[in-house]
Amino acid sequence: MKKIAILGSTGSIGVNALDVIRRNPKRYKVIALSAGRNVRLLKKQIDQYQPKIVSVIDGAHAERLKSILKPPHKTKIVFGSDGYRELATLKETNTVISAIVGSGGLIPTIEAISAGKDIALANKETMVMAGNIVVEKAKEKGVRIMPIDSEHSAIFQCLAGQKRESVKRIILTASGGPFLNFKRKDLERVKPSDALEHPNWKMGKKVTIDSASLMNKGLEIIEAKWLFGIDMENIDVHIHPQSIVHSMVEFIDGSVMAQLSIPDMRIPIAYALSYPYRISEGRPLNLFKIRNLEFLKPDVDRFPNLRLAYEAGKAGGTSPAVLNAANEVVVEAFLHERVKFMDMPIIIESILSSHQSKPSPSLKEILNADLWAKNQAKQQIERMNNKCSV
Ligand code: MG
Repeated sequence: MKKIAILGSTGSIGVNALDVIRRNPKRYKVIALSAGRNVRLLKKQIDQYQPKIVSVIDGAHAERLKSILKPPHKTKIVFGSDGYRELATLKETNTVISAIVGSGGLIPTIEAISAGKDIALANKETMVMAGNIVVEKAKEKGVRIMPIDSEHSAIFQCLAGQKRESVKRIILTASGGPFLNFKRKDLERVKPSDALEHPNWKMGKKVTIDSASLMNKGLEIIEAKWLFGIDMENIDVHIHPQSIVHSMVEFIDGSVMAQLSIPDMRIPIAYALSYPYRISEGRPLNLFKIRNLEFLKPDVDRFPNLRLAYEAGKAGGTSPAVLNAANEVVVEAFLHERVKFMDMPIIIESILSSHQSKPSPSLKEILNADLWAKNQAKQQIERMNNKCSV
């Protein structure tokens, strides 16, 4: 029986993970859940799964949760960074699903690894920001890191039973998002509501904007580099609007392996939890219905984030953390209509180019770089908005 803590249980991955767990009660048991501010949904999850302990973002939300939980309930409520730490390192669990969105997922995930928990990883920022530390620590602790990101799950599946020296390159697929066929001048005018309409996947706001700007794919390239120990030069991106082929691996003999399924996050979540076995999840794929699978070259002129991610990934050190941090701030600003869609990569690029990357950084250096880049991005956005209002 896998005893599971979910970091980020009220987000899209958390909700899907709970659905997989609910349908497999003999295999999985929820021990702990953590949410940010969505106490209403967390309350429902507590009623349904009866976890021993839950964590929320701060004391105020912990109080709110207490006030809506009907007594008698046995769930312990903790909060803040101490709360997340307690959840990530609980004695009773053997698996942690890391599904907090953004850089906030890094520390709890590293703590879970240090405590010897197997990780089902949806928080790509963990690898993007601190891949060097995470890979080393996982090795030291004998911890398995199973990808939940659909592309990385696909690659993981294609690599099963293969020798690493047979791999020539990895091909990550990208849906291309809602603006795939937009001209540059149209991209200048898009609004957050346009970007939030993703054609194939239902995800949280941050990931949806990242999908539309291709930054999601950029972060995934760096994630793949660390998860599979592959050089950036050997990772390619194909735009694949149907989102049926979730990624591919090309081998030195010219063979290409791909993993196909309908776009449903429960499939990679179930695989991450059940590996090396498979459990029944998701609807079957009907290729007669889909008929066409297309693959296109990504356009880095219209979507410069992809180029920036390659550059940051190749530079290594603290550069990927800076890329990620600057992106988090510009996406938040875009959602509040404080920057335009095409301003996002411009701001990120200027911050990256003024950053002195530190090679093989410590966790502290990574967190400093993260903070520095966030401040830089906020200042730039402030200046741009002041200029506009004069
Ligand atoms: Mg993905």
